[in-house]
Amino acid sequence: MAQKVVAIDGPAGSGKSTTAKALASALRLAHLDSGALYRSMTLAIRENGLPLNGPNLAAWAKDAPIELRLSDAGYVPTIAGRDVSQAIRSPEVTLGVSEVASIAEVRDWVNWALARASELHPRGVVVDGRDIGTVVFPNAALKVFLVASPATRARRRVLDMGLTDDEVTVARVEGEIAARDSADSSRDIAPLIKAEDAIEIDTTDLGFAEQVDRVVELAKAALFPEKS
Ligand code: C5P
Repeated sequence: MAQKVVAIDGPAGSGKSTTAKALASALRLAHLDSGALYRSMTLAIRENGLPLNGPNLAAWAKDAPIELRLSDAGYVPTIAGRDVSQAIRSPEVTLGVSEVASIAEVRDWVNWALARASELHPRGVVVDGRDIGTVVFPNAALKVFLVASPATRARRRVLDMGLTDDEVTVARVEGEIAARDSADSSRDIAPLIKAEDAIEIDTTDLGFAEQVDRVVELAKAALFPEKS
């Protein structure tokens, strides 16, 4: 049976999280950002002074005190009770996260946390990431795969970070995004790949409102067919 889940996957900077957040708010669903859990794990590893690829990391990760906590603003990532939603966006975390996300035990833990949070929510969830439609929620009611040109994705990231989108900065961020996409797409477990039954939306030339409208209409029809 299809789950009350909307899966939004795609490469870095394709607009997954902002779209997922807007969709969740439009349809009163909960937004689960799977990347935030990989980022929280990376931050916790760094804060504990552990190497990103150490031999005991998998065992340590299983008991790491990371939780998604439901607040008025939706699910917030926490480490030992501390809200880390800002801290996980630092360049250090961004640089290390793909390595941490390639550890099987870390992926199992993230998928367990996502499944649990989705079961607890009565109306349904929007989950964004890289393997949500392929691995985590293969029976999702709707799967969307967002893409955009590398230059557009880099420019969005630069503006998100509050930097000016001059040529040099955009080119640097484009290089970082390309390296992360390549690591995420070429890993053995749960690589970034479009699910066969996902609907691809290229957002390069779409305004944000238009992009969200499109996904909201698709989600309404998939989750609440009796009303559409
Ligand atoms: O979406 P975001 O850019 O915050 O994700 C950070 C990193 O977490 C990605 O580059 C990827 O390595 C990892 N990730 C993943 N699988 C997901 C979500 C994120 O491997 N479902």
